[in-house]
Amino acid sequence: MSEELRMREALCRVGRRLYERHLTSGAGGSISVRTPRNEVLIKPSGFSLADMQPEHIVKMNLRGDVLEGKYPPSTDAPWHLMIYAARPDVNAIVHVHPPICGGFACAGVSLDVPVFTEVIIQVGRIPLMDYVTPTTMEYARKVAEHLKEANALLMKNHGIITLGANLEQAFQRAELLEDFARMLLIAKILGGPVLLPEGEAHKLRALESEKWRMKIIEELYK
Ligand SMILES: [Zn+2]
Repeated sequence: MSEELRMREALCRVGRRLYERHLTSGAGGSISVRTPRNEVLIKPSGFSLADMQPEHIVKMNLRGDVLEGKYPPSTDAPWHLMIYAARPDVNAIVHVHPPICGGFACAGVSLDVPVFTEVIIQVGRIPLMDYVTPTTMEYARKVAEHLKEANALLMKNHGIITLGANLEQAFQRAELLEDFARMLLIAKILGGPVLLPEGEAHKLRALESEKWRMKIIEELYK
């Protein structure tokens, strides 16, 4: 099997996992992956992540030209491409509308709170972006700007974006963010989250365990 076909299949598999985990619904969300030739495989516009098949996926270059595909690319393509151009460390992008993160997004409440160790280690900072009309160039530029240094973004009145060195990492970050939003909501109901002590988040980000976890991911999802 060619490397590209393997990546197309992985993209469909992750799309189904996102849908089955209720991290998005209908035709919402978009996912993409960077190939070793520095091209991008991205979900076509209008397709549900649950139904996407390898032959539906659109191949583009970083300039925005469609190289292969029967369907138009996701309307999110401009900011996916901007992120790949600006972040050589990023090889996969997940964008979904999960219900609990979506609640925080619609209420304009940040998820960037130092309370849960796993999120600090595996995701890092989670900026909150003000509302901008999706599909516009202003929106694409704002998204790319917010993700210059972060690996996750909560967008007001919209949803989340997670980045990864590979598809599995981007998926796991999205999955973890939704679980974290649920935890934070419950903590708020129970009287408010207890923040980690000053400096602890910095210490957690410097741990080596995330590098080890990435090695395992690379072995399992080669
Ligand atoms: Zn969206």
